[in-house]
Amino acid sequence: MGHLINWTVKGISMMPKSLTRTLAGRYIAGETTESALARVQALNADGFECILDILGEDAGHKSGGSPAELLAKRETRAREAHRQYIEAATRLHAAGGKAYMSAKPTHFGLHHSEDLCFDLYSELAEVCARLGLFLRVEMEDHPTTDGTLRVFKRLLIDHDNVGIVLQSRLFRTVRDVEDLIKSVPAGRRLHVRMVKGIYLEPAKIAHTEYGPIADAYVQLTESLWHAGARVSLATHDDIMQPRLESLRSKLGITDEAFEYQVLMGVRPPLWKDWQQKGLPVRVYVPYGPDWHAYSMRRLKKNPKLLRQMAFGIFTRSS
Ligand code: FAD
Repeated sequence: MGHLINWTVKGISMMPKSLTRTLAGRYIAGETTESALARVQALNADGFECILDILGEDAGHKSGGSPAELLAKRETRAREAHRQYIEAATRLHAAGGKAYMSAKPTHFGLHHSEDLCFDLYSELAEVCARLGLFLRVEMEDHPTTDGTLRVFKRLLIDHDNVGIVLQSRLFRTVRDVEDLIKSVPAGRRLHVRMVKGIYLEPAKIAHTEYGPIADAYVQLTESLWHAGARVSLATHDDIMQPRLESLRSKLGITDEAFEYQVLMGVRPPLWKDWQQKGLPVRVYVPYGPDWHAYSMRRLKKNPKLLRQMAFGIFTRSS
C-alpha cells in the first residue's frame, strides 16, 4: 500500500497543473478571493456558515541569499500574506458573506519573528473586529506550538474576537488547556477549535493511534466545556461524533458553546446529515494562488493523507 501511495503522489505531482486543479477543485476554492467568496455564498445559501483560509505557510527552508536577505524575504512574504487577508476580510464583509478568517502562524512570519507574527495577527484582529468578524489562529507542527500559544495569549489581552486551535494528538495539550483557561483575561471567553492534529508527530510527544487520539479529543473537549469555553468541533469522524453528542447532552451544552467544523469537499453527506439533525456546521474554505505548490509540498511529506481525501487542504505532517 505504501508503494502505491508513493507512486500516486509522484503521479499527481507530475500531472499538468490544469488537471490537478480539476481534481483539487472539490477541496480548494480557486486561486482568487472572488472564487472563494463565490463558494462562501453557495455554502451560505445551503445554510452553512464558513471559514476563509488563504493557503500558504513558511516551511522554514533556507533558500539562496545571505541570512539578512533571507530574513527580509520572509518578512516580505509574511506582510504580503497579511495584506491579502485584510483584502479578503474587507471583501467578505462587503459581500455580506457569513464567514470568518483563519490564518497559519508561519504564514504570518512566526519562523521569522514572533513579534512580527503578533503584530500581523493583532492588526488583522483589529480590522476583523471593525468588520464584525472573528479570527482564528491555526496550529501547525510541534516546533511552532510554544510560539503560537505565546502569540495567542498576547492577542487575548486586547482582542475578544480571536480563537486558537488545539490538537488532541499532542500529550502537552492537557497542560495547554489548563494554562489557557487560567490565561483568559476576566470578562473574556476562550474560543478553541479542537482538532486531532494533521501533523504526524513523534511517539515521544504524541499519541499515534486512532483510539487514544479520539479519547483525548473527547476528554479535552469536556475540560474546555467545563471551563466555559466555546468549542468548535473540527472533525469528520462519525464514530467519535456520537460521543461528543452524549457529552454535550450530559453537560447541557447549547448552541452558543459549540459548532461542528468541516473541510469543504470532505464527506459532505455526513455534515449535511448533521445539519438536518439541527446541529450547527461551519465549512472551511481554503483558497489562494499558492494552492498547487502548497498542496504538493504537503502531500509529498505526508502521503497517507491521500487516504483521507483531504488533498490540498490540510495535507500536512511534521
Ligand atoms: P479522521 O480521524 O480522519 O477520521 C475519518 C473517519 O475514519 C472516521 O469515520 C473515523 O472514525 C475513521 N478512522 C480513522 N482512523 C481510524 C482508525 N485507525 N480506526 C478506526 N476508524 C478510523 N489540523 C491541524 O493540525 N491544525 C489546524 O489548524 C487544523 N484545522 C482544521 C480545521 C478544520 C475545519 C478541520 C475539519 C480540520 C482541521 N485540521 C487541523 C485537521 C485535523 O487535525 C484532522 O487531521 C482532520 O480533520 C482529520 O481528522 P477527523 O477527525 O476529521 O477524521
